[in-house]
Amino acid sequence: MKKIVLLVLLFVTSALAQNDKNVTAFTNVNVIPMDKERVLQNQTVLIKNGMIAEIGNKVKIPKNAQIIDGKGKYLIPGLVDMHVHLFSDGDEYPDSIAEDELKVMIANGVTTIRLMIGTPEQLVLRARAAKGEIIAPTVYAASPHLTGKEQGNDFVVKTEEEAREAVRKSKAAGYDFIKITTFIDAKVYEAAVDEAAKQKIRVVGHADSRFVGVERALKAKQQIEHLDGYMEMLLADNAPMKGSISDLYVYNPKNWESLDFIDENKIADVAVRTVAANPFVDPTQHFMKNTFGLPRTEESIRAQPDFKFYPKQVQDFYIGYLKRTKINEVPLEKRARWVGIRNKLIKAIYDAGGKIMTGSDTPEFLWLYGFTMHREMKALQEAGLSNFAVLEAATKNPSAFLGNPKQTGTIEKGKRADLVLLDANPLENISNTEKRAGVMLNGKYFTQTEMNRWLDEIAPKLANSYIGKKQ
Ligand SMILES: [Zn+2]
Repeated sequence: MKKIVLLVLLFVTSALAQNDKNVTAFTNVNVIPMDKERVLQNQTVLIKNGMIAEIGNKVKIPKNAQIIDGKGKYLIPGLVDMHVHLFSDGDEYPDSIAEDELKVMIANGVTTIRLMIGTPEQLVLRARAAKGEIIAPTVYAASPHLTGKEQGNDFVVKTEEEAREAVRKSKAAGYDFIKITTFIDAKVYEAAVDEAAKQKIRVVGHADSRFVGVERALKAKQQIEHLDGYMEMLLADNAPMKGSISDLYVYNPKNWESLDFIDENKIADVAVRTVAANPFVDPTQHFMKNTFGLPRTEESIRAQPDFKFYPKQVQDFYIGYLKRTKINEVPLEKRARWVGIRNKLIKAIYDAGGKIMTGSDTPEFLWLYGFTMHREMKALQEAGLSNFAVLEAATKNPSAFLGNPKQTGTIEKGKRADLVLLDANPLENISNTEKRAGVMLNGKYFTQTEMNRWLDEIAPKLANSYIGKKQ
């Protein structure tokens, strides 16, 4: 009896000792450090206690280290998605699915996210993720959105004082950013911006061209999402209309006539002024392009690997919507032209020194978080960015914006070990970010095989979680 107890104790203590050391080594791996465009070949990357401890080709590997064979593989920093929402943000789903939602992101190599419409539940998730209690990306959460019209998870702000109050409340609650959306009167917007400066919290989001507009948002040094308001900036001086194809304007076929009055000569100047005001731009280009620009067939939607994560009611709703939306009345060539102008804007902002950032704007319109990160990277590449520039947009740039470049964004000694191991070189083909061998989250490594099993388990859970709109 005593002997067995002793053996068990020995086993437990040796397991603990090994855990305690918590050392992992990627061996013979090609590292894409993202400090500049280069590949460090056949490296050993040593991870200790969640941090990158050493990188080199003569690194001594401790005896008890877990070895990950990186031969022929490529190591990149974990990916950052700057525009995410959760099913569980709204009333149609239970809060309990949030942890599974966050796991879907990890399984797709996304190790940092910014949630773009805040809820109190997200602040709890953020804290639990930071403590390592759940398998989740590092979470940044913008405030409930400031809007002029009730839309849910919001602060409806119609007066300057209401806007200031919303900013103060958001700051006190612990949100990372103030999120602005639509229908906000210009004076009310300026009060929000002024209060945010006082409270030392940054303003991010839309620049509704009907009320606020890019000019005002640039003056406020706001970080603008979706290239919102930019099409209106490009209208020729003699254009008979003020609205073009930004934001909610997109839904009215009549507004698409404005494309005939776009003056592309304005693009370069708008780009330079954008960079001077705030170089961090998150165009959410895949979402805009593939939801409103390019046609989408039911067949292509059903073939998406992320389709099965959606509840049947939601699948049917969006498939029905995409069939009957009035945008279908707009000729395809016009829609393609809009995509082309947006592409030119992205490239011009990049060329002017802008820091483009990846944002998926998921999970609406049947584009799921995680999966859509890679679609966004491809969309940025198609806009004219090099594969390296796209990787910067997905790693280093958002880390710099979020204010944690010391912790993530590049592969360097002393940084947090959020890493993605790829089977092929993403500098040769950006789609290689989809060929993953595994993901390391804060020093803990998950193989893609293991994470694919999570996805298989999570898909039916999310698909069956719909509880419908509350009356
Ligand atoms: Zn959004």
